[in-house]
Amino acid sequence: MEVKQAEFVISNSDPTRCPKPDKPEYAFIGRSNVGKSSLINMLTTRHKLAKTSQTPGKTQLINHFLINTDWYLVDLPGYGFAKAPQREREKWEKMIDTYLSERPNLICTFILVDSRIEPQRIDLEFMERMGQRGLPFVIIFTKAEKVSSNAIQQMVKKYGQTLLKTWTELPPMFVSSAVSSRGKEEILAYIDQLNKD
Ligand code: GDP
Repeated sequence: MEVKQAEFVISNSDPTRCPKPDKPEYAFIGRSNVGKSSLINMLTTRHKLAKTSQTPGKTQLINHFLINTDWYLVDLPGYGFAKAPQREREKWEKMIDTYLSERPNLICTFILVDSRIEPQRIDLEFMERMGQRGLPFVIIFTKAEKVSSNAIQQMVKKYGQTLLKTWTELPPMFVSSAVSSRGKEEILAYIDQLNKD
């Protein structure tokens, strides 16, 4: 799929104020600084669509972008910012929980993890909660050009082994780099296929 059009629709902290759920929707989430904004900009070929390098944990908004006039890409606020006050974290959790459980057109959530960092409890717990709710997700390994292909393979394997301790099936996994555009075609093709299903 080629992204011909990508436009910002709305930012809000209230999941009930998201756009009318009349188009398939795909959400992107991960720890602060994982490279989520860079990945969204890479996928859409818009350098400034998602704002990169914001103060981590500062902007806690759900951002909707309309792609090719037929699906929504959603930039969810990142989690795991160590310095965020408890009150902020609770607010985030409530907003994300409500969004994830009540958004009827949400087809799949892309959970981003850094290719260089061992599986972290916060990511695994988030995946666990998705699984318990029966919400489909995909793992994207970011910043891939920073590590060797062997190291990536090892990391993908490690995630697989960790998840298989509690799961019988593994989610799809993609490897990406906002620097080299690796993963772009595969991720967009995956979304395209889900849009057609
Ligand atoms: P976000 O907080 O998850 O939205 O992360 P950003 O997209 O703002 O990226 C955080 C930092 O990682 C920035 O300094 C980016 O330039 C850097 N970054 C993001 N993606 C990549 C990548 O694919 N490769 C490399 N080398 N750096 C990246």
